[in-house]
Amino acid sequence: MTQRIAVLGATGSIGDSTLAILATHLKDYQVYALSGHQRLDKLLKLCQQFEPKRVAVPTAAVDDFAAQLKQAGLTIDVVGGAEGLIDIATDSQVDTVVAAIVGAAGLPSTLAAARAGKRILLANKEALVMAGEVMIKAVKTHHATLLPLDSEHNAIFQCLPAVIQQDNTQIHDSSHGVRKLWLTASGGPFLKQSFAQMQQAGISEAIKHPNWSMGQKISVDSATMMNKGLELIEACHLFDLPESKINVVIHPQSIIHSMVEYNDGSYLAQLGSPDMKTPIAHALSYPKRIASGAQPLDLFALNNLEFIKPDLHKFACLRLARDAMQAGTQATIVLNAANELAVEAFLHSQIRLTDIATINEQALTQVPVPALSADADIDDILAIDSLARRYTTKLIANIA
Ligand code: NAD
Ligand code: MG
Repeated sequence: MTQRIAVLGATGSIGDSTLAILATHLKDYQVYALSGHQRLDKLLKLCQQFEPKRVAVPTAAVDDFAAQLKQAGLTIDVVGGAEGLIDIATDSQVDTVVAAIVGAAGLPSTLAAARAGKRILLANKEALVMAGEVMIKAVKTHHATLLPLDSEHNAIFQCLPAVIQQDNTQIHDSSHGVRKLWLTASGGPFLKQSFAQMQQAGISEAIKHPNWSMGQKISVDSATMMNKGLELIEACHLFDLPESKINVVIHPQSIIHSMVEYNDGSYLAQLGSPDMKTPIAHALSYPKRIASGAQPLDLFALNNLEFIKPDLHKFACLRLARDAMQAGTQATIVLNAANELAVEAFLHSQIRLTDIATINEQALTQVPVPALSADADIDDILAIDSLARRYTTKLIANIA
């Protein structure tokens, strides 16, 4: 049967890879809905190519975009803003939601998809960093399915026993013999450079990732290794493990995408070219396999796979993520919010790359947040997020 897909964040890097795969499998998948926030010219082209039934744009752009669609001879329902995204994520016609919006903006629609019992292909790691407990509870209560697109988490998923895969990936305890998870990290563009060199780095150097081609925010997060910090938190929620059971190893070649260590001494790893089309195709077709269009590995050319311990002075964001995870969800919300604003300030040349970690640490220690209660919901989470953003704006002004 045809799977009907909503791609939220269709104009971004994950959106590109997803639609490139879908374009070659239109017999099995229908592009039912798309969303875009910037670059609406690109969204218009995607509408012409895929002819979705529905599309979400920013509220202010609804009328103009509807007029452009009409002019192009397309009959597509246009919805606006955060409400529009939720409307699409919960549409009864949608089977699968690809959650590929960047940042906190992706949380409400991703959570709504979980509460509507959808199959969710999760790229938006920030949703789990901000609301891990609420998200996982919603997935279980509403019988949704959560499949990770993040290459590391997708690799771990593939290396876990089928019973865990089918139990919402929750490892819980040692009964399946899982001793540890190993998240691999490329180390980003500054792996071989000093802290002083990193301090002087310009925007173009920071977003030039050695192995992956990605959106700007995640590229900066990779340069500071905040991305691996966010992924550590994402993994704790996704696999129901404490941070102490998740190790990070730098593997500059980005061939091994992560590993599961078992108590008999086995390490299961997933390998592949550094191309997001592989994890996306895996999750789209799970438990089957479809062609993704990613280049096969040239194994004979892989004669030097390195594994390096991360330098937590240079990559302080990774240390902060562990601290925040230990402190509780209120702290991971603060860290995520502070980091989003700090990355934006760096991309606007207001602060240096290395100031991002300083601001994140100041926010973690200074924003006065109470521990979240066990029955906290999205409003409580968004209230902490707003408070953290107000504080961080002042912290940035002090440094800028
Ligand atoms: P991107 O910047 O290329 O695209 C982001 C998408 O989100 C765009 O479609 C944009 O229009 C939309 N968007 C931005 N702000 C929005 C808002 N306020 N409201 C609604 N939509 C908004 O980002 P990306 O690299 O595709 O990353 C998307 C998500 O996937 C991020 O959470 C990232 O961490 C995660 N991820 C990306 C990669 C990758 O290779 N790019 C890998 C793993 C995980
Ligand atoms: Mg990743």
